[in-house]
Amino acid sequence: MYIPCCAGSYLRRNLGVCVSAPPRPRKPKMHKNRKRRALLLADDPFCFYCRIPLTLDDSTLDHCIPKSKGGSSRMHNLVLACQPCNVDKADKVYIKRGA
Ligand SMILES: [Zn+2]
Repeated sequence: MYIPCCAGSYLRRNLGVCVSAPPRPRKPKMHKNRKRRALLLADDPFCFYCRIPLTLDDSTLDHCIPKSKGGSSRMHNLVLACQPCNVDKADKVYIKRGA
């Protein structure tokens, strides 16, 4: 948190330090999972299991081979799923054709 201080300076409240310029506003980062979902949505905007149309906000990432069973979080192991399908699949293994 920056607070205007003396003669165009700003006080960094958490450090108690006076700095010359205010911080530049940061561009909000897109969450890693959101970025991956966006990539998958561009290819196939449907739930992998029930084929309902998905959006960026209602999709979830599903690991074909669950992380609990040694699956990775790399793109070849990920599919888009709706929330109910993802919950139903839980930690079962699903082998993607062609993978
Ligand atoms: Zn589904």
